[in-house]
Amino acid sequence: MNLILLSEDDFIEPPHRVRLRGRRFTHIAEVHRAAAGDELAVGLLNGPAGTGRIVSVARDSIDMELHLDRTPPPPLPVTLVLALPRPKVLKRALVAAATLGIKRIFLINAYRVEKSFWKSPVMSRENVREYLMLGLEQARDTVMPDVSLRPRFKPFVEDELPEIARGSIALVAHPAASDPCPRSVQRPVVAAIGPEGGFIPYEIDLLRACGFTSVSLGARILRVETALPFFIAKLF
Ligand code: SAM
Repeated sequence: MNLILLSEDDFIEPPHRVRLRGRRFTHIAEVHRAAAGDELAVGLLNGPAGTGRIVSVARDSIDMELHLDRTPPPPLPVTLVLALPRPKVLKRALVAAATLGIKRIFLINAYRVEKSFWKSPVMSRENVREYLMLGLEQARDTVMPDVSLRPRFKPFVEDELPEIARGSIALVAHPAASDPCPRSVQRPVVAAIGPEGGFIPYEIDLLRACGFTSVSLGARILRVETALPFFIAKLF
């Protein structure tokens, strides 16, 4: 945790004093071994970042005095369209996406997405939020990404995606593609990544019809959680 994320509920004396319990208290006490007077990086969810000076440490809570004077790091101009992977992989992908600064994520269905994935507890609003918070804390960011679920592929691609991709470079990572992934792009990107079994040709055709270019990330077939940061790193 490189930054402690705070929400409005943490304030005991707004706008400067917070009390932290639970996961963040344990982390500060056990990992930072912080004591009164120490300063830690903090940030207000969807707000500024800065430092928190510990004013007191109790058995199960810590009080901090805040000095919020910094803006969070700039977002990445990427919209991620991710075919829903296995729950374990989804968790890693969400943490990675938030760490990289992606602020808009569409989790979509595809032919090779197992139906049961949509019912996984990992998909609960609370869990998705927790994974994104882990990513934000890692990157010292405060701005929560927006995650939307699209359990029907065709209506999403035909009815919504053209508008989402307007003004952006629209790319779908596809191992069979002959075009290489562009580098040093200067425009926003909509980046689509397929399910663990890959997009089927019909889905690639539909994405192409909506303006997407299919691109290769190289000769090696990467797991979804590897393909995501590799794809983004190639682009910027
Ligand atoms: N057998 C599947 C196929 O050929 O599509 C492999 C799917 S791969 C495990 C999961 C997703 O990661 C793919 O749908 C694609 O979006 C992305 N991916 C992985 N390796 C890639 C590569 N070398 N080039 C382009 N995309 C890749």
